[in-house]
Amino acid sequence: MANMMKGFAMLGIGKVGWIEKEVPKCGPLDAIVKPLAIAICTSDVHTVYEGALGERTDMILGHEGCGEIVEVGSEVKDFKVGDRVLVPAITPDWNSLEAQAGYSMHSGGMLAGWKFSNFKDGVFAEYFHVNDADGNLALIPDGMSVEEACILSDMVPTGFHSVELADVQFGDTVLVIGIGAVGLMAVAGANLRGASRIICVGTRPVSVEAAKGYGATDFISYKEGTIEEQVLAMTGGKGVDRVCIAGGNVNTFESAIKSLKPGGRIGSVNYLGSGDYVNIPRVEWGCGMSHKQIMSGLMPGGRLRMEKLSSLVASGRLDVKPEITHVFHGWEHTAEALELMRDKPKDLIKPIVIPD
Ligand code: NDP
Ligand code: ZN
Repeated sequence: MANMMKGFAMLGIGKVGWIEKEVPKCGPLDAIVKPLAIAICTSDVHTVYEGALGERTDMILGHEGCGEIVEVGSEVKDFKVGDRVLVPAITPDWNSLEAQAGYSMHSGGMLAGWKFSNFKDGVFAEYFHVNDADGNLALIPDGMSVEEACILSDMVPTGFHSVELADVQFGDTVLVIGIGAVGLMAVAGANLRGASRIICVGTRPVSVEAAKGYGATDFISYKEGTIEEQVLAMTGGKGVDRVCIAGGNVNTFESAIKSLKPGGRIGSVNYLGSGDYVNIPRVEWGCGMSHKQIMSGLMPGGRLRMEKLSSLVASGRLDVKPEITHVFHGWEHTAEALELMRDKPKDLIKPIVIPD
């Protein structure tokens, strides 16, 4: 293996480009992986163009992808060179106290389980490093394409996490705010959990079509009046049992609280790229006594999660193909794919780059 590699990096806030770096070193528990495919995420856009994580210099971008192992550490037991692997966007340190407390995504500090393109170089490179290979990698199931494998890095686990956070129950009416690649997986997850009605907020026609396929029953547009007015009109003034938030901004919580029944629950996985405060409307929050709960979180990562979620795809219970609208061949298309994610044209859900 060469000593040096190329990576597509954030050079500073608002600036991206290809740089050369040393190939990462493999510790005893780690693996070095060569990407088979990578996916661009809205979070990459927040990171680069909104500076949401703060300044970063020459940090290789990307946290979504799958790959082939090219090196394993001396203590890795279950994976070997040549294995084709799913790679979660979040790769916790499984022996940390935070992981033992049930919050592996915060292992080592708040959000610190999110290592790729945050605390270390990401996956948009000829090679990338995975900590705790036995704890974080999973084999790509037979018959699964590399494009589908990319959707398992972040979109499926994050969308499904919003459903877990909102604690969707049989027969619930669920509002899903945002039906990009993440929100669509919230729709699919809410449907699998037995929601009776799934009201979606989003306007891109390609997303609306995909949402119907995943079980959406009603649609509203945030561009045509407030979300809460439309939700209350549709539900006879009662509101919804659960809200999954996968789009919008700091003001979206206000709409979510106003759309929710007393005792209802919000599960937000939205990455708030800007704004200093989230406002909660006092009166609609029952003057603080409504039992309307707000849960929010970073997706859980790790091998078990990858194995379970990929089994849903492998068994045919979940089809992730409608998420994949753009596939590029060749690393040289990475910048174009990132630009697409920034511009969000009407026909886009998820762009993928296959290095070839
Ligand atoms: P997209 O930008 O593709 O989708 C956003 C959705 O929100 C679209 O349906 C869009 O509608 C809708 N929307 C935009 N503005 C508003 C608004 N003002 N009010 C209500 N809805 C609005 O994003 P992704 O699906 O890729 O990602 C969703 C979020 O999840 C991002 O913030 C991303 O960073 C975050 N994320 C969080 C993770 C976690 O672990 N917590 C992991 C990965 C991503 P329209 O159809 O009109 O465009
Ligand atoms: Zn992502």
